[in-house]
Order: sequence, then C-alpha cells, then structure tokens
Amino acid sequence: MEKSEFKKLKEKLLCEKKNGYDRPVDEAAMEAYCRDYKAFLDSGKTERLCAAQVIRMAEERGWRPYARGMALKAGDKVYLCNRGKGVLLACIGKKSLAEGAQIAAAHIDSPRLDLKPNPLYEDTELAYFKTHYYGGIRKYQWLTIPLELRGVVALRDGSRAEVDIGGEEGDPKLVITDLLPHLGAEQGKKPLAQAVPAETLNILLGSRPIGDGEEKDRVKLAVMKILYEKYGITEEDFTSAELEAVPAVKACDIGLDRSMIGAYGHDDRVCAYAALRALLDLESVPAKTAVCVLADKEEIGSDGVTGMQSAVFDTFMEDLCESQGVAVRACFEKSFCLSADVTAAYDPDYSDVYEKRNAAYLNHGVGLCKYTGARGKSGASDADAETVAYVRRLFDGAGVAWQIAELGKVDAGGGGTVAMYMANRNITTLDAGVPVLSMHAPFETVAKLDCWETYRGMKAVYMAEA
Ligand code: MN
Ligand code: MN
Repeated sequence: MEKSEFKKLKEKLLCEKKNGYDRPVDEAAMEAYCRDYKAFLDSGKTERLCAAQVIRMAEERGWRPYARGMALKAGDKVYLCNRGKGVLLACIGKKSLAEGAQIAAAHIDSPRLDLKPNPLYEDTELAYFKTHYYGGIRKYQWLTIPLELRGVVALRDGSRAEVDIGGEEGDPKLVITDLLPHLGAEQGKKPLAQAVPAETLNILLGSRPIGDGEEKDRVKLAVMKILYEKYGITEEDFTSAELEAVPAVKACDIGLDRSMIGAYGHDDRVCAYAALRALLDLESVPAKTAVCVLADKEEIGSDGVTGMQSAVFDTFMEDLCESQGVAVRACFEKSFCLSADVTAAYDPDYSDVYEKRNAAYLNHGVGLCKYTGARGKSGASDADAETVAYVRRLFDGAGVAWQIAELGKVDAGGGGTVAMYMANRNITTLDAGVPVLSMHAPFETVAKLDCWETYRGMKAVYMAEA
C-alpha cells in the first residue's frame, strides 16, 4: 500500500486523539472569557456568594425574577433563586415546551470545611473553630494553607449577619496547623487517609488573651468579642449559622504559557460558569426553551431542598409549562439535559490510576462521560448510544473540541454527578464537562481551552433545533 493511501485510510477509519490547539482557536475571545471566569470564581467562593453573583450577572443583562403565573413569550428571560443557594434560569424558546427544553445542569457548591454548630473553643490559650468537612476532601491538603471564613449567621429575630473574614485585601487569614517534620515520624508511617483525623481539622483563630490571669477562656472570649463587635453575634448564634472555611487564594493563570487556571472551586463552577455565560450570551431566541440549573449540595449527594433531587426544579419547570398549557411530564420526555460537571484530567504523575485510552486530557476539549459511577457503573445513569451520538452531532456541528472519557481505571474508584437525578425524571441526559487536575483540592487546575470549548458546547446545546 502506498504511503499516501495508507494515510488517507488511517484518517478515514481511525480515531486519533487531538489536542485542541491543533485546530483553530479564537484566542482573544478565549482569554477574555477566562478573565471573566477568574473574576467569577473570586466573587463566589461559597454557593451563596456564587448564586448572588449569578443573579447580579443575569440582572445586569436584563433578566427578571420569575413569579408564578407570569405570562411569558418567546425570548423572555427569567430566573428563580432557590433559597439563596441555587439558581434556575430560563430563556423561553420559539417552540412550545411540549417540544421539550434544552437544559444544562451544574452545581455551585464545592468541597470545603464547614464549622460545627458548637465550633468555638480554647485549648492551651489558643482559640479554635471545630470543623466538619463537606464533600470528598483529602484532609492533608487543607493544612497550612491560608483560609478565609465566609457564610451567614441567621439570628433569632430573622435578620442575618454576612460573615467575611479574609476575603478582603489586608484581612487577617485563618489556618489549620500541621506537625513539624521533626516530630512527624510516627504520623508519617500512617496511610495518607488516616494521617490527619477529621477532628484535628481545627482552625486557629487567636492567641491573645483579655482579662486577668485568674480567668478561664480568655482567648476564646477575646475572639468572641471581635466577632460580636463586627457582626453582633454571640456564641449561641453559631447554632444557626452556615460558615464555611474556604482557601484564601485568588484564581490565577498557571504555567509559563498561561495556558491553565489555578483556583479553588473549579468543581463545578467552571461548568456552572460555562452553562450560565452561554445562556446569558445567546444572540438569538433559541428554538426550544433553554434552561440553566445551578444546584447546591452535589458534593454531598444532591439531597435537600437546594440539591438537584429537590422538587424545586420540577416546580419551576411545571410553572413554565403551565403558562403554555403543557404537562411537565410531556416536556420532560422530550427534553435534553447536559449534566455539566467536571471530570478527572489525566495526570502523568499518577498514571497508574488512569486508563490511558479512556482518560480525559487537558486541552482536548470538553469531556463527555457516557456514564460515571463506581464498581461496575453503579450509581450511573449511563446515557444511551443515541444520546451520545446526539451530542457528537451538536458539538461537531458547532466545531466544539470534545473528547470522551471515563473517570480513572475501572477498579480505581469513581464518582457521580447530578446526571442520574435528571435522567430519573425521564429527561435524556449526558454528562460533559471540563477535565480537572487535582480535583477537590483547595487549589485545582484546568486548561483555558477546555473552559472555552465547554462554553461553546453549552451554546450548541441551548441553540439546538431538535
Ligand atoms: Mn462536580
Ligand atoms: Mn466534586
């Protein structure tokens, strides 16, 4: 066989993995998008702050809060905030909701350290907060990094104090200490998962006592006094608080070539941002109603009123359907949902947990996952072949760089997303998202190209005619 003929045949029949930079990329647009994304991350390190930022962005562009019974016509843009922690947005399409909706669902909660309901204590003249970690973390990663405290304290009188310690330039930061190597020999022999018990994830708050030497709890009281002066709260008020310790780091470019972004909370704000921006940026009225769901609680199972399993989504869709005289079940069975969540990026330093032929690679575009789950696809909705073909068609039609992948080796572990909760509603669903290095770490890394391609992919989903 001639060389040229071989090459032609190979191109025709074999599927070569392609770096996204080997195709045309609008670098200026990508860079501008990523700049905005970094600012989005910095302004929304908790689900509440993120939801507030989403609403600011939507309102700036003329989106209106949805109220039940509102008359809606094609091109109308409405949003619903779910208890300050989740947002649902819909751009009404030209076709009836009986034709289904084009949905993107992402989550805006990220792994972190929550304060316990009785967090404050003093030990050996040092004041601390007890924490309870939220989501899957590798505990050792949260030691000796600057932390900030964000969240709310709900008071008995119905008012609310917004806590922000460490978020502003010049603010003090908080920290969890670690053992020095000189005394770490015994700890160093323990398996990584056991070396740092959760009950040692205590946040150092202060060391300076008030009062005289006879008294007890002098540092604790000093800390509480500062909190009282700043927020008007007393120790009992922690009972009804949601305070989250999150990394006190800003999103920044990574690499000499600035091709990546390092930040806290890429999982899953990188997909949430893509899903949101794509919807806000739609230049024309979509054929079908385009819906963006930004949910809370994914990292702990999507339960609860703000999670993806909550009826809030069904209620919102039912209300929209009702305004068109459509049964929501008829809408759901014709809808498509892209479950927009991150996937694991292949890390050559840990090649033994990835299966090279089915891993997602940095700069190879948005990663499709036919199924997630663990131990033989358990807990996966496992999209059907037709659904994957549908998304291939949409993405190829829009020139979006994409790859298909699994999360690691079959027996190495696994993960889940909101996909199954959408699929269980009788909505055709596929997982897709940005590959992430060091997922769930306080500082995760993604490639700019993948962020950009995910945004472009979302647009293609919203604008799909069928
Ligand atoms: Mn996620
Ligand atoms: Mn996650």
